Amino acid sequence: MSEEVKESPRLAAVIGWPVAHSLSPLIHMTWAKRAGIDLHYIRVPARPDYDSFRRVADGLKAAGFAGVNVTLPHKEHALRYAATASPQAKNAGAANMLTFNDKGAHAHNSDGAGFATAVSVALPRGREHYRIIVLGAGGAARAIARAATALLYAGNQSNEVIVVNRTRDKAEAVAALAEGRAVDWSDRAAALAGADLVVNATSLGMKGQPPLDLDLSALPKTAVVFDTIYTPLETSLLKAARARGNPTVSGLEMLIWQAVPAFEAWFRANPEVDDELRTMLIDELRTRGLA
Ligand code: NAP
Repeated sequence: MSEEVKESPRLAAVIGWPVAHSLSPLIHMTWAKRAGIDLHYIRVPARPDYDSFRRVADGLKAAGFAGVNVTLPHKEHALRYAATASPQAKNAGAANMLTFNDKGAHAHNSDGAGFATAVSVALPRGREHYRIIVLGAGGAARAIARAATALLYAGNQSNEVIVVNRTRDKAEAVAALAEGRAVDWSDRAAALAGADLVVNATSLGMKGQPPLDLDLSALPKTAVVFDTIYTPLETSLLKAARARGNPTVSGLEMLIWQAVPAFEAWFRANPEVDDELRTMLIDELRTRGLA
């Protein structure tokens, strides 16, 4: 009796602590279904220390996983774990994805590219350069500030990046990475004058976190306002910006676009970002009471 030999399913995962909230499985499973790929994508919790991360990553690699997405608090651990790393991961000092290979793992950070694609469509074209204000100087801000320097790069001048953060030292470190300048947190409202784009890369305004207290009166009405947060989908910052006529972009766009390079690297397929996927993610957030 001949038995049909089926191709084994492809495997991928997201590692974090906590990880139950991650939307990565829904994004990747949707793309896999569309591409006819038999994908099993799982959430794997790993305790916050490096050894726990290493043990989990070793196990998944040995089990034949193509790669893993990495979320808090393991993004720095992922870079440390990898045998090789992309310039984006090295610049950010952290990785949000690993691709397993013969050498071990290759680390990449797609947060900067995810941010750039998310905001590019909303920005006016044809400028020599843009003035970009980044609030925050954590892991996301590092990747964003660096990507912001070359956002829609057209002229001879790179963009002007201004980093505003509660902890001044961290603002200076991130500003240096983007060849920009640091501004004190207490001067954040004045820093908005003349901006083309404002990014909230702090955790302020997220469900369960304190609100972001930011007076928008100095901000030009043409400036794009982007919030990295997607729970809620429309933060108080985005609501206030929309009310005064500024174009806004939600963190859900960055979440979707940062997932594209992983899917491409692991499955050699081009995933499509469309409204069907957006609606699915929004419905999932609503079901969980997070939208
Ligand atoms: P992080 O490394 O912990 O950085 C947190 C940032 O928030 C720091 O700059 C911190 O300032 C600031 N902050 C926290 N509490 C504050 C307060 N009470 N007052 C003023 N500033 C405060 O976190 P992260 O990984 O960069 O994440 C930052 C945000 O990006 C989060 O909201 C996260 O959800 C979002 N994110 C979104 C995506 C996406 O795909 N949409 C991807 C990655 C991250 P100090 O330096 O002074 O502590």
